[in-house]
Amino acid sequence: MRMREATPEERRRFYLEEWDKREVPDFILHTISLREFGFDLDGKGPNNRYNQFTTVEQLGDFLRSRAPYSAYASVALYERPSAREGWLKAELVLDIDAKDLPLKPCGCPPGSVCERCLEEARQVAKQFAEVLAGDLGLRNISFVYSGRGFHIRVNDESVMTLEGNERAQVVDYVTGGVIPSDFTLALGYSQVFRERLVRTFRALGPEKLLEVKGLRKSVVQRLMQEKERVIEMIRRGRLEEISSLEGLGPKTFRSLLEFLTRLNAEFTDGKVTIDTKRILRLPSSLHSGVSMKCLVVRDIDRFRLEEAVPKFLREGEG
Ligand SMILES: [Zn+2]
Repeated sequence: MRMREATPEERRRFYLEEWDKREVPDFILHTISLREFGFDLDGKGPNNRYNQFTTVEQLGDFLRSRAPYSAYASVALYERPSAREGWLKAELVLDIDAKDLPLKPCGCPPGSVCERCLEEARQVAKQFAEVLAGDLGLRNISFVYSGRGFHIRVNDESVMTLEGNERAQVVDYVTGGVIPSDFTLALGYSQVFRERLVRTFRALGPEKLLEVKGLRKSVVQRLMQEKERVIEMIRRGRLEEISSLEGLGPKTFRSLLEFLTRLNAEFTDGKVTIDTKRILRLPSSLHSGVSMKCLVVRDIDRFRLEEAVPKFLREGEG
């Protein structure tokens, strides 16, 4: 898979020949006149804002005539979207960007993505959505392939009127981004936290662990040698057993725990979730930076990247 920037001519071809209004998801179609649309017309950033469309045909006309570099729609619904006024409610969204994962399973350079880190982003998105649906009981959860990762978009009335600080609590919950007061509970946040801790600790290499304040090299070696045992202790909530590992001690253990918790929180960009006036890449549109389509993913397990490859790329490279 090779990702490269689309040319202006390819953008025009995409919107004239390939863009399909049926790929605009229902949750946007049904509320189209209440959303603010934003565009990056030339690759310099989404500066064309405050657009309003009454129908999807109008949106299509705009896309075909301007062939934007990027297209976005607000997560919020407004009484007057063209003035960004009269905020009514907003989807709850989580952005899992493969290029920004705190622990990448691959060696691809900062700002790039490859199939391995996209796969990691897919797994993270699945884990988050399981908690949103299971623990928090939310419905109408959609996955979107964004071009460089995945968006989770929740259109459940019970969260759409939440304010930014309440959304931040949802982020903390699904990411395991705060240390719970009790590690041992078999259900609820305590369990989510332990699962996230296991995932993060498993993915850590020794170099990363050396960043923990006060953690000596010999202890890092020990933690690595006894990784599976430590993971088992986390699973069971026996965190005090870890702190009694030789050479660790309660204070350094606390630093380690805080370090891992911070990493947990970095698996999504919390700023996206708390911003209730955000514009988010429009499913059906082209991500010109990587020449991939932004698409609703009906089945997260079966989604293949090839589904998002536009025709001009497939034809161009045989
Ligand atoms: Zn990668």
